[in-house]
Amino acid sequence: MVGKLRDAIRDVPDFPKEGIVFKDITPILSDGELFKGAIDLICETAGGVKIDKVVGIDARGFIFGAAAADRMGVGFVPVRKKGKLPWRCSEAAYALEYGEAVVEIHEDAVKPGEKVLLVDDLLATGGTAEAALKLLGGLGAEVVCVTFLIELSFLGGREKLVPHPVAAILEY
Ligand code: AMP
Repeated sequence: MVGKLRDAIRDVPDFPKEGIVFKDITPILSDGELFKGAIDLICETAGGVKIDKVVGIDARGFIFGAAAADRMGVGFVPVRKKGKLPWRCSEAAYALEYGEAVVEIHEDAVKPGEKVLLVDDLLATGGTAEAALKLLGGLGAEVVCVTFLIELSFLGGREKLVPHPVAAILEY
């Protein structure tokens, strides 16, 4: 399955700006076997620990995170770009591989001590996931694993996420 997933990912040079090789995961989403296989592997990164909530990062983390939450029979919580969530929020600023942003979470979305699987499609510099971890730390969540479909390991983003356990299905 891992090989099939790797073969399906499409490299798009110079998107959304020059010098970025964008990893397009839509060919995985549009193939039932691959999408299911990706969700199976993401769920396995919980290592058999009983998860209370899956938290997904805006926007492709919602797709994988929500499907993983449904598969595990648990709730899903979105970490969104600033200004999208309607209720009271905590916020954290971060730098992207291409730009800067602020992410938010509803302050009552995760309860202290809840076991969380944090999911995004891709780990680049690690800034986004680091900000999401700050939000979850502020709410008192216990992060069981930070799970990515893809890790661009040459960017060293994993170091920003220490001491949390990090898992990636595909490394580049
Ligand atoms: P970072 O904060 O640098 O780890 O960036 C991770 C976020 O930006 C993820 O939500 C990804 O969806 C997106 N991203 C960054 N670089 C890429 C890339 N080369 N291909 C696809 N998505 C990317």
